[in-house]
Amino acid sequence: MDASHPIHDSLHSQLRQLQALATQPADYATRQRWLAGLASMVTQHQQAWVDALQADFGCRSAVETRLAELFPSLEGIRLAQRKLRGWMRPQRRGVSFWFMPARARLQPQPLGVAGIIVPWNYPIFLALGPLTSALAAGNRAMVKMSELSPHSGALLQRLCRQYLGDDVVQVVNGGVEVAQAFAALPFDHLLFTGSTRVGRSVMQAAAANLTPVTLELGGKSPLLIAPGFDKRRVVGSLVAGKMLNAGQTCVAPDYVLVQRQECDALLAELRRQATLAYPDPAANPDYTAIISPQHYQRLVAWRDEATARGARVEALGGSSEAALHAARKLPLTVVQDAPDDCALMREEIFGPLLPIVCYDTLDDALAYIRARDRPLALYLYDDNRARIRQVLQGTVAGGVTVNDTLMHVVQDQLPFGGVGPSGMGHYHGYEGFVTFSKMLPVLYQSRLAGAVLTQPPHGKVVQLLLNLMLGRIR
Ligand code: NAD
Repeated sequence: MDASHPIHDSLHSQLRQLQALATQPADYATRQRWLAGLASMVTQHQQAWVDALQADFGCRSAVETRLAELFPSLEGIRLAQRKLRGWMRPQRRGVSFWFMPARARLQPQPLGVAGIIVPWNYPIFLALGPLTSALAAGNRAMVKMSELSPHSGALLQRLCRQYLGDDVVQVVNGGVEVAQAFAALPFDHLLFTGSTRVGRSVMQAAAANLTPVTLELGGKSPLLIAPGFDKRRVVGSLVAGKMLNAGQTCVAPDYVLVQRQECDALLAELRRQATLAYPDPAANPDYTAIISPQHYQRLVAWRDEATARGARVEALGGSSEAALHAARKLPLTVVQDAPDDCALMREEIFGPLLPIVCYDTLDDALAYIRARDRPLALYLYDDNRARIRQVLQGTVAGGVTVNDTLMHVVQDQLPFGGVGPSGMGHYHGYEGFVTFSKMLPVLYQSRLAGAVLTQPPHGKVVQLLLNLMLGRIR
């Protein structure tokens, strides 16, 4: 977008206001006040969040909003509140023998103003998570919400004004034009959560300002069942992880790798448990709808393409096609024998379609994963330690949960982020604090510094010293 465009001008003046305020670094008490404001936004407005998400999705399970948005947001804030003093404390670093008795410290410092771009699928968690890191690190922030979650965006804007104030956080709502102008602002750091495709343009826009980016992207996250692993232990968490938010979760298992002779047992268990978990998905208020008619059409088209190309497609659930369509819902749909080059097998699915890929040996399964983009998440079901090690060493992923789905994401003491096409950089917990800080290296020189001996003019002493320093003692 043209830098003199009115949207750009107005966003830029918002940024300048915050930049002027950011010249005064926020102390510990101020940051704790901000974190308390974030916590109140969550705890005191639970029903308002549930209602906003319901309005955005048409049907968004209230349990999911509280479990997968409010709870992890609050956990992240609580951890920051507990750990902040330690995070802010300068860290001691060693100096080598030659520089003793100087002292080295690493002093965290706010960067200034952070930009945060949020997708629609978990608008609260994916706004408040990065905000927690940015504010704990003492920054101001501007947040751009998705055009597909306008009710959540409006609520976040109102609550940020009320609990933090425009001098701390400014929330921006609007369409793609606004998003493009936002990404082109000269932030001190930009954290983008969204698709890999848009992530590329965001990084390009940020490059013009040399703004450092954290990219939280998507991709196809595999779920690998080791040979012989009990299917009943897999399927509860597979169904929960895939059907949460109707599969519209960046770390949802995208497809399943199972040994060929165990495929039927897996399918039988999937049929049983999917129906138990979400009976009558069309009318079930606990089963979330697909966010928009376009997203719904995309999923239906991918399913139909796979069917037309010879895949075996089976919808699990029990609602009629007409009722599902009217509710903009898709049941868990397993897809077998889909050709590798159909959209379902190439692109991130982001919905409740579940391809099953059969493998003959574990090495084949690992080769299948390695031949594709490095995923955001990898799920492995296995109890054999040596094999778990083999899988962890033989693959590269953003994060891993062994014997469950999604759970590594809500461990605030673990960093969260992708690798390669699934993202770069990390946030959550301490790593989030570091992402939004300048970790300033400071050396305090001593009066007794030996470095004086290396200052010019260079005589015999420096030669002797250099022989010692370079290990040539004669
Ligand atoms: P998206 O990339 O379409 O949009 C994300 C955000 O970027 C929105 O706020 C949108 O307004 C904005 N945007 C759109 N075009 C832009 C542009 N040209 N420049 C700057 N900003 C622009 O993604 P989405 O459909 O909202 O979300 C789904 C995707 O996000 C999936 O790929 C999913 O895997 C990924 N995701 C990743 C994570 C993670 O933490 N890694 C979490 C949730 C979703």
